[in-house]
Amino acid sequence: MSDLDNFRKLGVSEEVLEALRAKGFEAPSPIQALTIPKLLEGAVDLIGQAQTGTGKTAAFGIPVIELCEGGGKKPQALILSPTRELSIQIAEELNSLKGKRKLRIAPFYGGQMIEIQLQRLRDGIDVVIGTPGRIMDLMERGKLDFSELKFAVLDEADEMLDMGFVEDIEKILGATNSDKRMLMFSATMPPEILKIAERFMRSYETVRAESAQLNTELTEQIYFEVRREDKFEALSRIIDVEQDLYALVFCRTRNDVDELVEKLKLRGHRVEALHGDIAQMQRTRVINQFKDKKFKILIATDVAARGIDVNDLTHVINYSMPQGTETYVHRIGRTGRAGKNGTAITFVTPAEYRKLTMIQREAHTEIRREELPQGRDIVEM
Ligand code: ADP
Ligand code: MG
Repeated sequence: MSDLDNFRKLGVSEEVLEALRAKGFEAPSPIQALTIPKLLEGAVDLIGQAQTGTGKTAAFGIPVIELCEGGGKKPQALILSPTRELSIQIAEELNSLKGKRKLRIAPFYGGQMIEIQLQRLRDGIDVVIGTPGRIMDLMERGKLDFSELKFAVLDEADEMLDMGFVEDIEKILGATNSDKRMLMFSATMPPEILKIAERFMRSYETVRAESAQLNTELTEQIYFEVRREDKFEALSRIIDVEQDLYALVFCRTRNDVDELVEKLKLRGHRVEALHGDIAQMQRTRVINQFKDKKFKILIATDVAARGIDVNDLTHVINYSMPQGTETYVHRIGRTGRAGKNGTAITFVTPAEYRKLTMIQREAHTEIRREELPQGRDIVEM
């Protein structure tokens, strides 16, 4: 069987197969295998659920590209996305998937010069991608007409709802033709999504891609409920209480890493930072010293920690909640290795409970709640 046959079997055209080959895709991801044939075949509305990083963009992007014709007066597809970065990424992904198809695909987002966007709209556009805010703005200026859509897509629907875009989304959808097909993609399925589905979808199907199993025999997984502003004290307590702590601590951003390192150093702890802004030579030096246990607490971002291979960590600490299940599984896979027991601790703020529930479900695992240990110097919080 030649490569890409599994994409071909889903009904993908030769033009798009060529683009997939150029991109280096070899086989469809589970969510793609589930959704692409459904969308290419029938006139269903659809909700697709799969964890972050599983290729949801191409899951709707390929059918949108296959079924839209370029060159019309009005846009044929609208894709709403929570942030400008994601809008740009989606546009790039779709443009790289379209191959030789003459589709005009572009992102529209706040912060980009409105004049550039208006000119692009005057030139004509087939697939509009954007944040609800900017799309609303352009609609209200009379610059976007969504009366002949084939597709309306809500991508990362859970994130958009979290960000308070629900009213904008409802207004935008309310101004679209009712015979379009509507798709929603999301990592999680909060009830608000179903409400939108009830309101704007006809008969819809839900497809869900199961995620990989986590091997957690040797890793104890616990979480502490911590308010954002109390995280530092919580970590300090853990460091005080755990005698032989040898830990990798994860933060979301480079700034978070630097800030935490600074504060821990002020408390007299020997810690180092690892993130993408640090020169490669320094990174290598830090990793080697950590492996040699010259210091035993390393604060890192996900990207920087990717290459680290340390076998006998006692703890992985999620100072910031991981973005998705994949990241969680990746992070905590750093402990409980080589036959040694380890503990994975996650700090969860009240707003992050839903994410915690989602991770437990997707990873088929249980993360046990514990109370914070009492530190030697208990600080009034
Ligand atoms: P999600 O929206 O589910 O978080 P994305 O659509 O952003 O995931 O895809 C994550 C990454 O995986 C992207 O870099 C994308 O190009 C890549 N990708 C998607 N599908 C495939 C595939 N079938 N084979 C290889 N890489 C893929
Ligand atoms: Mg996505």
